[in-house]
Amino acid sequence: MKIIIAGGGIGGLTAALALQARGHDVTVLEAVREPRPLGVGINLLPHAVAVLADLGLLPALRGMAVETAALVFANKHGQAIYRDPRGLAGGYSHPQFSIHRGELQMTLWREASEKLTVLSGQRVTGVRDGNVALIDTAEGPREQAADLIVGADGIHSALRRRLAPDEGAPCWRGVMMWRGTTWAPPFLDGRTMVQAGHSQAKFVVYPIGAPREADGLQLINWIADRRVQPPTPGLTAPDRADWSRAGRLDDLLPTFGRWHFDWLDVPGLITRAEQMLEWPMVDRNPLPRWRLGPTTLLGDAAHPMYPIGSNGATQAIMDAQALADALTHHADLDTALAAYEDERRPFCARIVEMNRREGLDAILDRVEALAPDGFARLEDVIAPAEVAAEINAYKAAAGHQVRR
Ligand SMILES: Cc1cc2nc3c(=O)[nH]c(=O)nc-3n(C[C@H](O)[C@H](O)[C@H](O)COP(=O)(O)OP(=O)(O)OC[C@H]3O[C@@H](n4cnc5c(N)ncnc54)[C@H](O)[C@@H]3O)c2cc1C
Repeated sequence: MKIIIAGGGIGGLTAALALQARGHDVTVLEAVREPRPLGVGINLLPHAVAVLADLGLLPALRGMAVETAALVFANKHGQAIYRDPRGLAGGYSHPQFSIHRGELQMTLWREASEKLTVLSGQRVTGVRDGNVALIDTAEGPREQAADLIVGADGIHSALRRRLAPDEGAPCWRGVMMWRGTTWAPPFLDGRTMVQAGHSQAKFVVYPIGAPREADGLQLINWIADRRVQPPTPGLTAPDRADWSRAGRLDDLLPTFGRWHFDWLDVPGLITRAEQMLEWPMVDRNPLPRWRLGPTTLLGDAAHPMYPIGSNGATQAIMDAQALADALTHHADLDTALAAYEDERRPFCARIVEMNRREGLDAILDRVEALAPDGFARLEDVIAPAEVAAEINAYKAAAGHQVRR
């Protein structure tokens, strides 16, 4: 089949590679004229790494990512509540990777450019007659027909608008996120991701590269979330969500300035950041359908969700594989798109809903409510088995599959 993918992000490029590997003739159309390694850290869960490994990318990923050994939940004093072994250390068949989003995207971009057609400066604005993509370029508008058009064009997707023309801006419930990277000494074992605090103020931190030889410092990715408004229904983010808006120290230090943990200097990380970006924590309501004729959606275009549980890039990659599988198993395109959607749409809608209720971070609020000043022994506050059960329930619903 001739397939057009609108959007050369992580979801679109993975889908392109998976579809090309199954013999399809794929063209990726990316709006940006000169793609650059934008963004900061993301996590790829083992089931997504398995998809990229099937595409031959495991050696490249190992070369640029940190193999995450554990996810630790902690209170705002830095006291550990739960340690969840991850990747191979957690009994999964594949590693979990903490990785720079932009470097991952550029790796997929190079790989896809070698194997199929990847065009930049091509903004897909709509579809005519079911299967003709309308495209804006610097040279003027053009059109391109295909058997299938996939909208992998992110949270502000033009192709999603065909299915939900009145949807408007993404939904915001009053939490802002500031994302930064800082060169700093490794913390804990140098391979651990930590989520500390609670839903009003949370600090997520993990390394995304090996310590550099010159000084032993490691590139540490961090995300500080803070509630800046009560969660009023119908709220929209103060500015249009833009992945590259710079953040300000004054927004963070009044809240996080005293978070000196035994094992991490949070204000030090914030003040020494080499870059800091601001992004409202936004998502969209799940759609009742993703397909319209020979078009469908994938990744953030289909199911933008709060970045909780490392599901943003992971679920986009899982969509890519599911779409490629559906087209392999069903000769009829309509049946294949229905099968893809039946597998992925309700599943991802559930994650969107779980993340609105804080996902696996809900446990942090419970501990904060019970012991705001910290604890001498966690078991005096909450039964560790209860914590494990709650976290494992989220993981099962989000598709984690431990082998042992
Ligand atoms: C610049 C940028 C920085 C990001 N930084 C982070 C981060 O630091 N941390 C994090 O957790 N997540 C980040 N994300 C989001 C994260 O990459 C996604 O949540 C996840 O990887 C799912 O990917 P996706 O491919 O569905 O969407 P995206 O990664 O958003 O990719 C969508 C792609 O489509 C392109 N596009 C948009 N509209 C059109 C159009 N009309 N026609 C053609 N192409 C179009 C975009 O330029 C982009 O390349 C970032 C996204 C972007 C675009």
